[in-house]
Amino acid sequence: MTRYTMTIDGRSAPAAATFGVINPATGEVFARAPDCSEQQLDAAFAAAERAQREWGKDEAVRRKALHAAGDLLFNRAQELAPLLTAEQGKPIPDALFEIAGAGIWLKHFADLPVPREVIRDDDAARVEVIRRPMGVVAAITPWNFPLVLATWKLAPALLGGNTVVLKPSPYTPLTTLAVGELMREVLPPGVLNVVTGLDPLGAAMTAHSVPRKISFTGSIATGKKVAAAAAADLKRVTLELGGNDPAVVLDDADPAAIAPKLFSRAFQNNGQLCSAIKRVYVPEHLHDDLVEALAATARAARVGDGTQEGVQFGPINNRPQLERVSGLVADALARGGRAAAGGGPIEGPGYFYRPTVLADVEDGFRIVDEEQFGPVLPVVRYGSVDEAVERANGTHFGLCGSVWGADVDRATEVAGRLECGTAWINTHADLHPGQPFGGFKWSGVGTENGPWGLESFTELQVLHRAKS
Ligand code: NAD
Repeated sequence: MTRYTMTIDGRSAPAAATFGVINPATGEVFARAPDCSEQQLDAAFAAAERAQREWGKDEAVRRKALHAAGDLLFNRAQELAPLLTAEQGKPIPDALFEIAGAGIWLKHFADLPVPREVIRDDDAARVEVIRRPMGVVAAITPWNFPLVLATWKLAPALLGGNTVVLKPSPYTPLTTLAVGELMREVLPPGVLNVVTGLDPLGAAMTAHSVPRKISFTGSIATGKKVAAAAAADLKRVTLELGGNDPAVVLDDADPAAIAPKLFSRAFQNNGQLCSAIKRVYVPEHLHDDLVEALAATARAARVGDGTQEGVQFGPINNRPQLERVSGLVADALARGGRAAAGGGPIEGPGYFYRPTVLADVEDGFRIVDEEQFGPVLPVVRYGSVDEAVERANGTHFGLCGSVWGADVDRATEVAGRLECGTAWINTHADLHPGQPFGGFKWSGVGTENGPWGLESFTELQVLHRAKS
């Protein structure tokens, strides 16, 4: 078994204890990851704190390093992709896409201006607003996109002059460890520390006295714990949490034309995407055609081990998630829902699940009300647009949403009524490093990406110079 090591203060940090990492395509442990000790976590934060003093000084050095980090990911993508597939399950082309995305994010921030604004300059005073680093950032990521979501945090944090201690999910620790090892070539010691361990390590990071900011992506339940822990010493937090994105199909939409895109944005990464379409609202007269078009696409999809060529969807990442998805579908079927495609797991080893389209389901069913985070799409009938909007909004979630229709102005007007951080028109989950991303309500606190994301990793300081 290849062993990957934690990166603390620019060096390999061997751990006394390890934990197993399962390949979801086989259900077998295929590697072991280090279980960070309390002393090692202290060492990682101490290294980050020391390194920050120098790192915070020179923006040009930071930009150069971020470019080099992005290039490194582009250059090493071929060797990282099989590791990401092995621990996460996604097909190799999707793994390559994610690694390229991580490189793009690093390079985008490498060139993003850090604002310095003179807001007043008159006879009495010159007042300038500048951005200062916060210090050390604790970054915690989930298992669906371990690498690209890490760079959503690293890139703005590092550009802003902060240093980072990064912890991936225990389900997908290896690619992040490997990237930590690679980054020793381009980042000074202590600027990026990578630690791995089970969930209590995340809690220990949020309770630690050194970090001034926690940037967290994960579930709502854990996000609330992070917010509570951060409150104890008023750490800043950004929380990117779960979603239950509605897609509202208007009555002038063409089901055959929109079904392929709706399908791809619901099932991307096997539905394990915070901003995937998680429920579709459709008017009665389009319902059957849309369900059939989605179901035909689902039936034709090729599911298998992500290392095999031509596979579109790999396994669900982990057994608890497979059981959760299975439970939500079983509940819907027991209550009168109909599986127009799929409807259950695939027999055999690994956590494979048939792409599933559910009809005859409605609000109040768990599969509609909760976040499935898996390859299942419920299609729900509605009467009026007002009713669809009300049901789309009638939830604690508020990450993203979309509206689909031939009259784009009308669709845009309806999209503007959705209570969510991003509302797309005739598309969904179209993300860009320069476009802000964040959730309303329980889907998050704060914003990532673009200048807004950068801002969230800085403290605003006013330099007020008296002239008389
Ligand atoms: P999770 O909340 O179980 O775990 C996320 C991370 O938090 C892991 O690294 C975990 O080890 C760590 N953790 C666990 N307990 C902790 C604690 N008490 N304190 C601090 N850290 C702790 O989430 P998951 O199952 O890995 O990810 C799936 C969820 O993430 C879904 O709900 C999905 O919607 C959400 N997600 C959101 C976004 C977004 O940008 N909004 C993106 C991807 C995923």
